Amino acid sequence: MEYQLIDGKATATAIKQEIAEEVEAIVAAGGKQPHLAAVLVGHDGGSETYVKNKVIACEQCGFKSTLIRFEADVTEEELLACVDKLNKDEDVDGFIVQLPLPKHIDEQKIIMAVDYRKDVDGFHPINVGRMAIGLPCFISATPLGILTLLQHYHIETSGKKCVILGRSNIVGKPMAQLMMQKQYGDSTVTVCHSRSKDLKKECQEADIIIAAIGRPEFVTADMVKPGAVVIDVGTTRVEDKTRKSGFRLCGDVKFDEVAPLCSFITPVPGGVGPMTICSLMKNTLAAGKKEYYK
Ligand code: NAP
Repeated sequence: MEYQLIDGKATATAIKQEIAEEVEAIVAAGGKQPHLAAVLVGHDGGSETYVKNKVIACEQCGFKSTLIRFEADVTEEELLACVDKLNKDEDVDGFIVQLPLPKHIDEQKIIMAVDYRKDVDGFHPINVGRMAIGLPCFISATPLGILTLLQHYHIETSGKKCVILGRSNIVGKPMAQLMMQKQYGDSTVTVCHSRSKDLKKECQEADIIIAAIGRPEFVTADMVKPGAVVIDVGTTRVEDKTRKSGFRLCGDVKFDEVAPLCSFITPVPGGVGPMTICSLMKNTLAAGKKEYYK
């Protein structure tokens, strides 16, 4: 089958260009340049890369960005004090605390401390709750990026059977909520996880598979129905001695054997990843415009 590759990189570039044009118009009219702050704790390679890419995306969108760094031994109190300062800083429209945090810090406590009106990651319970009942809010970046891709490629989701692999708070659960809701995916949704009994059979029946488990090449050809849409969220670093970095990013889908069966499929890298950052930019623009909250 002739499959269509979903180009997240090109889609994200086009959307960031639109955002940059809007920011230019806002600033030209005397409005405020949106400002995103990012808090980075420690020196985890993945987190360093994500934050670096977020700062670059801010530049591309014409946003102001601030990076606040802490060493891995920062105390919870110090981090909470930083969150409090950002909550009160009138120049900062939105901010993120890059996860994961070191074990001695209670992640949930930090998420709860962020002012939901500046929570551009969409992790605060107020945003999660508003999303669940279909109210305007910051939607977490990866699920929003996937929805945007599905819309951009005019992929029919209404009434389709969508299987989501993974039930994390940042991908699987919000994705399931969005795919289920009438105004977004309008699909029939099944969520699978590490205790699911017949995951292969569930996948075989799916019109849309969204894989977010972090298990390289888990989804194989025998699990995919011909004509299915496959969205690969997985980004696991696997050793690759041929690369200068010593690793490459591997998705949850065995691309070479699955792609020929699909109608649409995302690559890794260049699929969901760039859209995640692009969605954070969308949320920051909305924060700057006070679109959801005054
Ligand atoms: P996570 O918090 O580790 O959650 C993984 C989920 O997958 C859990 O619900 C787990 O089940 C389930 N799972 C693990 N092994 C499984 C198996 N063998 N069969 C079925 N289910 C299994 O991961 P996450 O934060 O959601 O991230 C998932 C992947 O997406 C990772 O590779 C991550 O790097 C990537 N990611 C990419 C982006 C992007 O922008 N591209 C953004 C976020 C995440 P239990 O709940 O039962 O443990």
